[in-house]
Formats: sequence, C-alpha cells, structure tokens
Amino acid sequence: MMRSTDPVPVFFAALLVLAAAAVPASAQNLPKPEDVLGFKVGDDYHLATYPQAVEYFKRLAAASDRVKLADMGKTSMGQTMTYALISLPQNLAALEKHKDIARRLSLARLSPAEAQTLAREGRAVVYLDGGLHASECAPAQHNIQLAYDLAAAQDPKTLRILNDVILVLVFANPDGMNLLADWYHPNVGTPFEVAPLPRLYHIYAGHDNNRDSLLANLVETQNITRLVNREWFPVIYYNHHQTAPFPARIWTPPNSEPTNPNVHPLLVRWQNMIGSAMGAAFDEEGKEGAISRIVFDTWYPGYMTQVVDSHNIISILTETALFRYATPRFYTVRDFPAAYQDLTMSAFYPNPWRGGWWRLRDAVDYCLTASKSVLDVASKYREELLYNKYRMGADTIERFRKEPPYAYILPADQADPGNLALLLNRMILLGLEVYKAEESFTSDGVAYPAGTYLLPVSQPFGLFLKNAFEEQKYPDLRKYPDLWQGLVASKPFEGAPFEAYDMMGWTLPHQFGLTSVPAQTPVEVKMSPQKEVRTGPGRVEDRASFGFLLSASENRSYAAANRVLKAGGRVARAKKEFTVQGQAYPAGSFILPGGSVQAPVVEKIARDLDLRVVGLADRPNVETSDIKKPRLAIYQSWMASAEEGWTRFVLDEFDFAYDVLHDADVRAGSLRAKYDVLIMPDYGGGQAVVEGYAKGTMPPAYVGGITPNGLRNLKVFAESGGTIVFLNGVCEMAIEMFGAPARNVLKGVKAQDFICSGSILRMEFDPAQPLAYGMPKEAPAVFADSPAFEISPSYGGKREAKSVAKYAAENTLLSGWIHGEKLIKDRSAVLDVSYEKGRLVLLGFPVQFRAQPYGTFKLLFNALLN
Ligand SMILES: [Zn+2]
Repeated sequence: MMRSTDPVPVFFAALLVLAAAAVPASAQNLPKPEDVLGFKVGDDYHLATYPQAVEYFKRLAAASDRVKLADMGKTSMGQTMTYALISLPQNLAALEKHKDIARRLSLARLSPAEAQTLAREGRAVVYLDGGLHASECAPAQHNIQLAYDLAAAQDPKTLRILNDVILVLVFANPDGMNLLADWYHPNVGTPFEVAPLPRLYHIYAGHDNNRDSLLANLVETQNITRLVNREWFPVIYYNHHQTAPFPARIWTPPNSEPTNPNVHPLLVRWQNMIGSAMGAAFDEEGKEGAISRIVFDTWYPGYMTQVVDSHNIISILTETALFRYATPRFYTVRDFPAAYQDLTMSAFYPNPWRGGWWRLRDAVDYCLTASKSVLDVASKYREELLYNKYRMGADTIERFRKEPPYAYILPADQADPGNLALLLNRMILLGLEVYKAEESFTSDGVAYPAGTYLLPVSQPFGLFLKNAFEEQKYPDLRKYPDLWQGLVASKPFEGAPFEAYDMMGWTLPHQFGLTSVPAQTPVEVKMSPQKEVRTGPGRVEDRASFGFLLSASENRSYAAANRVLKAGGRVARAKKEFTVQGQAYPAGSFILPGGSVQAPVVEKIARDLDLRVVGLADRPNVETSDIKKPRLAIYQSWMASAEEGWTRFVLDEFDFAYDVLHDADVRAGSLRAKYDVLIMPDYGGGQAVVEGYAKGTMPPAYVGGITPNGLRNLKVFAESGGTIVFLNGVCEMAIEMFGAPARNVLKGVKAQDFICSGSILRMEFDPAQPLAYGMPKEAPAVFADSPAFEISPSYGGKREAKSVAKYAAENTLLSGWIHGEKLIKDRSAVLDVSYEKGRLVLLGFPVQFRAQPYGTFKLLFNALLN
C-alpha cells in the first residue's frame, strides 16, 4: 500500500490555476447552511429536518458546479431519498465514464494490465452517509456542513481531494431525521429535553435498520444496496454513528475481535490503515479521545458496513461521542469509569480525552475531521485503492476455481418456492450472479434436474455469497488469547465465553427453510444467468368447478387467504394431510369453495402474488374448519422495540390488517368486543409492558405502561375467548403474569453455563397441530436469548399447555454457537395454552426475527389464522 507515485503533477498544477481563476465569484455566491436553515449546523438545541437538509442541498447544487443531486427511491414513509455527488466539475461531467471504470474494476474480469490502466484513469468513489441511527443526530447534521465545506474550499488539499474523489453523500434514514426533530424541539426547555424517543426512528426497524443489510428488507436498505452494489461500486463505504465507548470522543477502526473470515485480507489492512490515518488527523487538529480496537467487531454481516466488506468495499464505521440530541453537557474526569480516570496512554488510545463541554457542534466537528480524513486517504491512495479493489475481486474469482465450496446448489422444487425466489432476487440485488441449469447434472454424486439454481462462489463477490450461505463456526476466543490480548505475555482466559456484538450465526438458506447444497467438487453444467427469479407466472391450474386450493407450506398462501377473506370469500383449512390428483398437501392447506369467491378474483390474486393456485374439480376428501378474517391488534409500548416494528413489517408484507394498541387502549379495556387476536411483541419480560416509563422521565402521556389494570384487561380478553400471541422474550410475561403452566429452564442461568445470543438451531415441529401447519417435521430456527420451556402440570384442564415445537435432542446447533446446549435439548420452544375460553400462544423463539427467518413466519401466521 505505497503512496501513489503518479499524481500527474503537470495536469494537477494546470487544474489549480483554472480552479483558482474560476472560483472566487462562485464561492461568494454559495449559500451557507445557516442562510437556509436559520441556524448554524450543530448549534445547541437545533436539528435540521430532512426537508431542510434537502432544501439546502438544492440551493447549494444550484449555485455550485461541484455538487450534483440525484434521487435513489422512496423511504418507508414516502419521502424521496436525495443524495449529493460532490467532485470537481470535470469529474461530474464524466460521471458515466467513472461509474463504468468503478464497475469494471469491481467486477474484476480484466487482466492485471487492463486493471492498472483503469486504476490510473479512474476516480476513487467514496460512499458516505449520516443519520442511519436518527437519535445519533450529529452525523446527519454534519452531512450539510461537509457539502458546504467541499463546495466552498479553495485550499490545495481540498482541491486535490476533489480532483481524485467522487463523493456519494447520503442521508441514510430521512424519516428518522424528521421523527427525531419533531420529538426533540417541543421538549427543549422542558424537563423532558433529553427524554428518549417513544417510537422507532424507522417505522419498522428502529435501530435494526443497521441489521438489515444481509437481506435488504427495508426500502431504504434496498435503495442504498442498489446504489452501492449495482451503480456506484465505491472503494470506501463510510457509515457514521454516534455511540463512542465513554469517555472516548470517537471510535474508529481497527475493529475488535472476532473478525469475519469471509473478507479479503487486504480489506482488513486498509481498514486498519484508514482508521489510523483518522486517528492521526484528530491528533494533528488537537482533538483528543480517538479510540480503536474495542467493542465493535466485524463478525455479523447484517450491518451496512460489514455487508460491503465481503463485496471488497473497504467499510469504515465510526462512533462519535453522544450526549443527547442537540443538548450540551459538561464532563469532568470524575464522571469517567475508573479505568479511564488516570488518562493512561495506550496503543489504541494514545491521546485520552480530559473532559470538558461536549456539544452537538463538537460531535459535528469530529465527524467532519473523520470524513475529510477518509476522503484524504482516498485521494492520496486513489490508484492503489482502485487497483486493490480489482485485486480482491480477481483473487476471489481465482480462489474458488480451486477450492470448495465451488457453488451453492438450490433445487427449484422447494417446499416454499416463493421463499426461494425472494432469497435469490435479494441476492441478485446484492450483486450476486445467479444461474439456472439448462440441463440435468450431477454434483458430489447427487443428480439434479434442469432448472436447478446455481450460485458459483467463483465470482467477484463470492465471499459475500459464502458469508450469507455457509454455516457459521463462531470462534471460542478463550482459546486464542495471543491473538487479542495485546500484552507482552498473554494470560489464559478463565471467565465466561465471549459473545459477538450481534448474531453469531445467520445462514440465510436455513432462515428461509431452503435446501442449499455447497458443492465440494467443481460443477460442470450448461447454465444461464438470471436477472430475476420467478416462480410463476401465477395462475389457477386445473379446472376449478368446486373451488381452489392453496398449500399451507407456502408463505404467500397466507397472503392469498387474507386477500380472499378481504374480498368476502370463504376460507377453510384442512385438518389433515390429503391428496389431490396424486399430489400430497399438508394439514392446514387452504380450501376456497368457489361459490364464495369469483374465479377472476382468485386469478388476479394468483397473478399478483406469482402464486400457483390449484383448481379443485371436486371437494377434497378431508375434514376442514372455516376461518374468519381475524380482528387483530398489536400492542405497541412507548418503550419502542424493533421486534415490534419487524412484526408489523411481516404483517404488512403478508396482508394482515391490524390495529395498533397503546397503553391507554389496553387500560381502557373492552378488548374482546373489538378483537379476536392480540400480538404481544418482544419487550423482554412483562415488567416493561406493565410499568412502562417511570413518572417524571417522560411527558405524562408516555409514562406508566398498561398498569396492573391493563394486565387484568388482557387476562379478561383471553379468558373470554381471545387469543394472545407472545413473541420470544415476552413469553416470560405469559408464565409469570398469566400463569401459563410452564417454566423457562433458562431463567436465571449464568453466562458461564449457557450462552446463545443469536444462532440457528435445529427444531422439531408437530405439523399436525394448527400452530405448526405447513411446517416440516424438522427445520432450522433462530434462537436469540430465547426461553426453553418445561411444561408444568395443568390446573383442572382450564390452562393446559401443549408442546408444538421443541429443540432437537441431537446436533442442536446448525450455525453460530451455543454454550450449554444440554440445557435446552428436547425442551419445548412453542406452547399452545388453553386459557379458560381463550388461548395463549407462546412462540418461544423469534419466528419473525428482523423479518429474516421466512422459514418460520408460518408459526405467527397460524396463530392469527385459525
Ligand atoms: Zn448507531
């Protein structure tokens, strides 16, 4: 990684003259942020909203020939996502050329000589965003100042940067900027000035909008993914945050351990180098408190940063220090944790922060130093970065020509073809090459028919494919103290095992309930590239003189059933497995008598959902029970939970209509008159639900939870025939507060004895029971700090628990890590509890976790539709 030896000095000097001659007039005419916002960026108590920021960008772009704007799609709440391209005018005039160079180097199907030529000619595209986590408010504000600084600068260093770099500047969560400003501004000057936002700052995901990048469920993630993996192919991807480990003022790479193995080693080197360059920039400017190498690891690839690492894009995460919003705070050394009070110098914290005022503007200034430092590195090492991008892609293509896995093979006849299509289309969006076999072939002794899908790992982003599809083997860091302790002589580690910052296992085909086979030997077959994977065209097959049939094993069948119910049609579910024309259909499959719903309605639903609907000539020979359109509500605490948001996301995706209930609605009661089913999302235990925020910590409308009275109302709801569905951690509430006859065997167990904070486990289901309709007998399931149940004796039959799913007795772990496996072997994971006239459903593992395990959504759907 030597510094560029070829900065084209003659051309550069000429450019400076030109720029200097052209600039003074235009620089004077540039609007400053305060001219548009009415306050300076980072002023105490002031946050710009997204429309204000875009208004400023528009005014700046109109006045400056260094700034161009473009749109990349809509947000979840319908705003247009506008981004800025910032560079010298001659680069902006040649955007298509530079985009093409970036793409060709990234896709790496070039000779080293061709790559060298392109690297010399190309510009370093740097993607940079602010505002992903809206309550970490400095980064989005800093975007505004950064755009102005770059547009207005006349100094040689910035002109050099703008000559070498094309900056793609993005507001990652526009909705969140508004939600936050709308909450904060009215609270300024009240006792609740720094009170937490009582709702998610992304309507579905909240903080988890940085856990979505592996699958890209959210439209914002999809827009950014398209921009990065299909349009701009940046060399560096910089994602700003604002939760530095206190008292550090900013956290930069190098990262903590463990390190994800599916990245090119060059990428880790560049991350470390850029992180160190940033640290030096802080010390040069006298900004204390830059720290590295603690807290944030690179294991989980669902973050915006780590997902691009295996696309050979150097991701940079920083965490600037935060107090709350735009409210300043003064700190003394005595506020620091004891370990930091001595201000001890260390290799990754050589310039400790000594305390003092910390204002929004300080955080904005730290963000600016960090951003400009990254741009400076991109400029200084432009050619090496571009060539290394090619090198990482070319190495990956070459490596998996010679070593397994050679490809991932996905048969087309999966139990849920909709899941297969969805996963493969998302992988195409994420830049992967997906193929379809045009002939039958054999791999590792197994025969596959024509039409089988293949994803060769020998492709430029093959490491991402491997990362997403393989089973994770999380390293037990206790075994390798030499690798992470950083001491003269490392010591054996005696304590509890180390967890990752987030998930330890995520294998996507497992989460989707799909068969995916890694090829251990090279696969030779004629195959064609796929731009889009379709399961359809959706249509009604066979004569439908009696009615229609939808298989219970397909998620889209539930959406279709919801649409038929909405259209006023009758929907019944088969109580047992049965066959139609020699084809077996599982218990729970949907039967739609034709008399109740018109054929064109069903045909339209089939087309829109790309779903195969079977026409029934005769009534199938199986007992059925009718289902009603569920009168459904989901509880939403003011203590916002991303899992509540993701649950709504899944309901919306599959056409479930529902109301949202707040504390006051539950306290008011009469729930049974309005609803049949209530969803209690994962708020940990029931304490948060019942007690909520303490009085005095929030404006009065947001304190107090549902109260014991509301809890009583929920019990009455269930006793009088309603169903309450408890998700994951909140199952504790069903046991402790409703008296569900079960015990969580993991309650109170210490980390020394059990850890499984995010892995994929083998689960056994009983598909004869309505809650497990459409599930296979065995399937992978996400486990994330979940309970495991032992059923207690029932009380006179009024509260009886039936086990619907349990953790496998053997080989429980499929992907990730579990410590203390024996504690959950053979224990129940899903309980169907009769409760007087009603029912409690305990989904003891997160069936809809981050809207990713499409293979287990049916557990939730079945709880709502029967
Ligand atoms: Zn953050």
